[in-house]
Amino acid sequence: MKEETKLIHGVPYDPLTGAISTPIYQTSTYVQESPGVHKGYDYTRTNNPTRKTLEKLITKLEYGCDSLAFSSGLASIDAIIKLLNFNDEIIAIDDIYGGTFRLLNLYKKLGIKTYYIDMTNINKLIISISKLKKLKLIWIESPTNPTLKVSDIKKICKISKKINPKVLIIVDNTFSSPVIQNPIKLGADVVVHSATKYLSGHSDVLGGLITVKDKNLYEKLKYIQNSTGGVLSPIDCWLTIRGCQTLFLRIKKQSQNAFKIASFLNEKKSTFIENVYYPGLSNHKNHLVAIKQQKYFGGIVSFSLLKDTIDNAKKLVSSTKLFKLAESLGGTKSLICHPATMTHKSTPSNIRKNVGIKDSLIRLSIGIENVEDLINDLNHVLLNL
Ligand SMILES: *Cc1c(COP(=O)(O)O)cnc(C)c1O
Repeated sequence: MKEETKLIHGVPYDPLTGAISTPIYQTSTYVQESPGVHKGYDYTRTNNPTRKTLEKLITKLEYGCDSLAFSSGLASIDAIIKLLNFNDEIIAIDDIYGGTFRLLNLYKKLGIKTYYIDMTNINKLIISISKLKKLKLIWIESPTNPTLKVSDIKKICKISKKINPKVLIIVDNTFSSPVIQNPIKLGADVVVHSATKYLSGHSDVLGGLITVKDKNLYEKLKYIQNSTGGVLSPIDCWLTIRGCQTLFLRIKKQSQNAFKIASFLNEKKSTFIENVYYPGLSNHKNHLVAIKQQKYFGGIVSFSLLKDTIDNAKKLVSSTKLFKLAESLGGTKSLICHPATMTHKSTPSNIRKNVGIKDSLIRLSIGIENVEDLINDLNHVLLNL
């Protein structure tokens, strides 16, 4: 089955009633015939049929062996970090999602150390992998937030496993979705999604998904999930399953819109704009890797202003009409945000500057509106800055 078909038919109809829409099993517990004798379900923290349906769907979409659904993207990331022991080490991409940075910081006091490096520089990565004696995880995001840096996942997996065959490679695939790239096919061990973004797709769910390559790892993560309890509720599983039906259409339209908007901003370079970040532009520094790795270039576009001040950026993001000022991304409605004072406010300013998040950097999450309307909205505020 091709991706579009899988998104629709990856969820079977209900065998009990024929219901074409997945039933929402809104139950905490299940009646047993005698102690331990039941139909495979005993308590919803452990298992729920609606959650299972979503987990099976994402397993197919990400080419894994099994999946787990969590109450948020960060709850799923937290479960992965809990695989580690005292003194273990992590290598993570330097412009990692702000919330993941905060979480990894929290784990410092439990003796887990993270080293942040630019993984578009393979030589730097090789040196770090060879040096770290207790390295357990390599954490990749591609494209990154908000400067859309693209790392060569296949190359990183191949080289890392050669130096340290035991290291687990995790890819946070939130920005791409399974429609754009499938990290397990590229050699990763685990794929994680904030389902809050593209998968649910309508800005109405908070959720996280993990897909793993092998059964052993699945069992470990399942144990952690059941022990800590951050599971996705049946209704949110249902909303995510429903969202996935239009994932392909949305990603395609969002990518088309984003390309046109990035090109429009690129043309304003001499007047208002200092830089535009979009993997689909030929002047993007990882454009060639993006072409090789991604089916679409995605719906996120970032740009910085010639007059690089926080105030200038704040004025812009507060003046658009269609682009709503909000955190998050991946929904049907276009959003605008100012990373330095919003999504990345917990990242220290020196680290922020080092990874290229300028004071005036603005991030757009492109929706499925008419692209001319979106361009007019941006053009109007640029002319009035
Ligand atoms: C939003 C996001 C997360 C965290 O997900 P939540 O659902 O908000 O907990 C993790 N990684 C990336 C790349 C994200 O964009």
